Amino acid sequence: MKTTRTGTKRVQIDGSMGEGGGQVLRSSLSLSMITGRPIEITRIRAGRKKSGLLRQHLAAVRASADLCGAELDGDRPGSEALTFRPGAIRAGDVHVAIGSAGSCNLVLQTLLPAMLQAPGPCELLVEGGTHNPLSPPVDFLQRVYLPLLRRMGAQLELELLRPGFVPAGGGALRLRSEPCRELRPLELKSRGAIRKRWARCVLADLDESIARREFKELQRHADLKDEDMKLEIFQDCPCPGNVLQMVIESDSNCELFTAFGELGVSSQQVARRLWKEVRRYLAEDVPVGTYLADQLMLPLALAGGGRFRTLKLSRHSQTQMELIPMFLPCHF
Ligand code: AMP
Repeated sequence: MKTTRTGTKRVQIDGSMGEGGGQVLRSSLSLSMITGRPIEITRIRAGRKKSGLLRQHLAAVRASADLCGAELDGDRPGSEALTFRPGAIRAGDVHVAIGSAGSCNLVLQTLLPAMLQAPGPCELLVEGGTHNPLSPPVDFLQRVYLPLLRRMGAQLELELLRPGFVPAGGGALRLRSEPCRELRPLELKSRGAIRKRWARCVLADLDESIARREFKELQRHADLKDEDMKLEIFQDCPCPGNVLQMVIESDSNCELFTAFGELGVSSQQVARRLWKEVRRYLAEDVPVGTYLADQLMLPLALAGGGRFRTLKLSRHSQTQMELIPMFLPCHF
């Protein structure tokens, strides 16, 4: 990465900016560690029903502090203001137990860019939820996000040790990284041909008939053969769980869409929700879907360049475009 750690002027952040949620906090932590600039965030997650630091956010704050020896102020449950003064990013192990079904993946995303700047290999172990609604499931990180970071020059390995569904959690992930001094710019301008499309149903301690119904409904809409339907079963989990996913592998990259099974929502509805999202992506010649777009912005800014085509920008993407230039000399 071309970023230099300046460690100078404090960056003042209004946590209610843009989408006003956890992303403002997470991206600010990543950028603070990387640039060495202290941050003060007020009105943390003011845009959410339950504002302030929840367990998952607190876990991200403390794990970030551990990785770079930061001094903290305001790292309490429910806190709406935080000061984070980073030190030097170190190599080695970081272990985070969220203590709820809070998303491991979002904690992992906060630390990942900084881990690449460590002077040696890092290993991050996170315990909590691995398949949470409103956050990237572990499969998305493994099949979509990490392969793109690898194309940019990062060496990363992500392993699902145990799945963890809402509300019990109990899952675990391990991310290993090697130092990466410079990320390369990435261009994803058109999708090209679709090479493969397939679906995946994950069941934790639930009846296989759920997968059959979800697959059947998905096949009514999507062009999928029986051999394109993969079932993955986990047993003896702390609580039951179900996700249905569709993977689109194109000349350009891989995208993955997810719908979560919920009590009171039929298997058919889950499949239709998933198809709605996939159809929206397939209708345009874009390689990058809505979620991937906001997540790619930080690596691209760190690489000092890049370009991609995506669907209509989300609030999360717009927020990233406003926040990142507060730390790095870049524009979108
Ligand atoms: P926040 O709402 O601020 O906690 O941010 C949620 C993050 O999770 C954003 O970066 C989204 O792009 C990402 N996200 C939410 N749902 C999905 C999904 N189904 N697949 C991939 N990423 C997701």
